[in-house]
Amino acid sequence: MCGVIGVATEPGHDAFDDVVHGLFQMQHRGQDACGIALSDGHHLRVHKGTGYVREVFHDRPAPEFLGHVACGHVRYPTQGANRLANAQPHLVTLPDGRELAVCSNGDLTNYWTVRGALQAAGTTFLGTNDAELLAKYLAQGITELGLTLPGAVRRLQAEVRGAFSVCLVFDHRLYALRDPYGVRPLAFGADGGRWMVASETTALDISRMDLVDEVRPGELVAFGPDGPLRMPHEDVVAARHGRVHPAHCVFEYVYFSRPDSIANGRRVYDVRKRIGAWLAEDDPVTGDLVVPVPDSSNAVALGYAQASGLPLEFALVRNHYVGRTFISGDQPRRDEGVKMKFNPVRSVLQGKRVILVDDSIVRGTTSRKLVRMVRSAGATEVHLRVGSPVMRHSCYYGIDTPDARELIGNQMAVDDICRHLTADSLRYMTVEGLRGVVGHAESFCMACFDGRYPIPLTEVKVAREAGT
Ligand code: AMP
Repeated sequence: MCGVIGVATEPGHDAFDDVVHGLFQMQHRGQDACGIALSDGHHLRVHKGTGYVREVFHDRPAPEFLGHVACGHVRYPTQGANRLANAQPHLVTLPDGRELAVCSNGDLTNYWTVRGALQAAGTTFLGTNDAELLAKYLAQGITELGLTLPGAVRRLQAEVRGAFSVCLVFDHRLYALRDPYGVRPLAFGADGGRWMVASETTALDISRMDLVDEVRPGELVAFGPDGPLRMPHEDVVAARHGRVHPAHCVFEYVYFSRPDSIANGRRVYDVRKRIGAWLAEDDPVTGDLVVPVPDSSNAVALGYAQASGLPLEFALVRNHYVGRTFISGDQPRRDEGVKMKFNPVRSVLQGKRVILVDDSIVRGTTSRKLVRMVRSAGATEVHLRVGSPVMRHSCYYGIDTPDARELIGNQMAVDDICRHLTADSLRYMTVEGLRGVVGHAESFCMACFDGRYPIPLTEVKVAREAGT
């Protein structure tokens, strides 16, 4: 998972602050590395580094790092790979001197096939990052096939498969595009002559941009002095693959997006509250308190508490400086991370029957530790409620889920999971319930829960070490 952003303002204005602030709002989407490509209409400069936005862009990298057109990226961590080589944006200079900088959020399912074809035609690669592949594929279309950028994008959308929400700067102009399924979010907004496109609408909020619309599945948007020029691409893709239905990632609502973001026309906060209410109403349990696992479960627990009439208590306190549990790669460090991250408020839990609400169970590491933590802080019962269905399948479209064999929901029945977690009871959201809560379920990908992968996986780059 990653976050992308693009900004286009008028010549003479500076986009740097807007991009940095927007990336900062999307830091939760990736903490491994970040980067910005900035054009002043003459030069396209890229600065990227490993670490948080506040570290890499603490100051302007150089006095000449100025410009009115930009794209930027925060990168989700992966293990082992040379991290800087895989940082984005990826810059390519065409033989005629025009420059192209590409940032992408998603994961490509035919990465190795496309890369093999490019290599056979003489293209070399520095890393294993999607943005590099996308940039080089576009560059090939423009230089060798004589295509315009929109033409090269149409070719890319027909031939490169998987999830990609992209911001790019080509020839000093900003473009945004989404794969034909619209898996990862991408929205754009405006304030006078300033335009911004971003993975999450919270990036627009911080720069006081009004949300205009989302980039539609398969769409290419060019941002110029006259505003956005929107180019739908359904025809090209349909000609190659038949009719394609949108497949927006439902896990963005469950966990990944911030609650204050709007994705696919729905406020994430509202969806999470509805999930909580559904859990309370579907299978009520007798308890004294509703306790969220902060922060991603706060709105789910609030929805639960309001629907059940039980008090909501913040009886687990989170240390905000640890980062996400998943981030510390290997299992021993993940175990440690849970203890470093959460501490119970004993006086609140003492003698209480606790309904503990979490957003998802992946490996089960977090929940097992938290159930024990809450009980040893004095709770007499711990009933775990999960704001998503049983996760049984890996994601190949940009969420960093482990191999299916590491998913506890793939290995055990719910009763066994409950025993393993040492909870008094365990209930998950159901796939049907989640469909009802988000609405228009046919336009969502729920493959991690129901195993129905909307984009074929025949060429998945399983062995690829680096994601986006
Ligand atoms: P686990 O200990 O593996 O069961 O981790 C579950 C917790 O990790 C959940 O409570 C989520 O808050 C969080 N989580 C779920 N999916 C992801 C993901 N793809 N990346 C990082 N964190 C995640």
